[in-house]
Amino acid sequence: MTRPASVGEALRAATERLRAGGSRSPRLDAELLLATALGVDRAELFRAPERVLTCGEERRFDSYVVRRQAREPVAYIRGRRAFRTIELEVTPAVLIPRPETETLVDVALEALAAAPAGSDAAGGAPAPSPYEPWALDVGTGSGCIALALAAENPFVHLVATDVSAAAVEVARRNAARLGLGGRVDICRGDLLDDLPPRTRFDLIVSNPPYIPTAEHRALEPNVRDYEPRLALYGGKDGLDVYRRLIPAAAGRLRPCGVLAVEVGAGQAAAVRALFAAAGAFAPTRERTDLAGIPRVVFARLSPRHAGG
Ligand code: GLN
Repeated sequence: MTRPASVGEALRAATERLRAGGSRSPRLDAELLLATALGVDRAELFRAPERVLTCGEERRFDSYVVRRQAREPVAYIRGRRAFRTIELEVTPAVLIPRPETETLVDVALEALAAAPAGSDAAGGAPAPSPYEPWALDVGTGSGCIALALAAENPFVHLVATDVSAAAVEVARRNAARLGLGGRVDICRGDLLDDLPPRTRFDLIVSNPPYIPTAEHRALEPNVRDYEPRLALYGGKDGLDVYRRLIPAAAGRLRPCGVLAVEVGAGQAAAVRALFAAAGAFAPTRERTDLAGIPRVVFARLSPRHAGG
């Protein structure tokens, strides 16, 4: 390979290699990988483009570029990924948090802000202290949704579950590193099956695996070959997990609690139908992501169905 001397030269050379290797964002990838190799943040690269790399830095950067050329996701090479206001550790045991999932967090934060069960709900008198809602994140993976909610709403308490023990470990490390472990309890469990019997929530959120299994071949290699299958595939039509999750969630919500789920492109109507079929929810609503794709389906438990 070429022996780039400076940050600027190293970036240019790596960008070309990554472009040739099929990356869609070769310059950004090169910047993130070089910043990681140098142990600095990305902005530092622009402050000192003439800085000369040591041999060790060059070797480390080269090894990252080689991995990226083999389509390994940048987030796994770096071991971290930004999501809303937080940065998360990610390993191949967890799905890499996606920008579209930030839309689910928006909907969830709005639902928490409107949590109806506060002690002032009936009389109109101001509550003595802020209501502390309880939320559940089903299939938490890296913990991104639960931890973003805790980071952005200082009152919420969360339970986050995942069926993968390896994912639970990653999410717990993230909670501890972000100083949010006190309000976010992460436990291993299959959907809602392993929660203590009488626990009820003001909000349940989930970004379940929703890719139809047959779409496996059409996925980008960085997803198909590197991200955990358990986190990706939702059965023949991609809706298997919603079929279990939606009726189960209805039984775990407090009165007027909200269920909000992320859906794949083109799945909103089918998922809305599953909410309706559960017979426990008020009419569903949906929210589009930044690309204009309906991405979140959500509804309140209808007042007649107070979680029991
Ligand atoms: N909740 C995690 C996320 O949104 C993991 C989702 C999953 O593994 N399907 O990234």
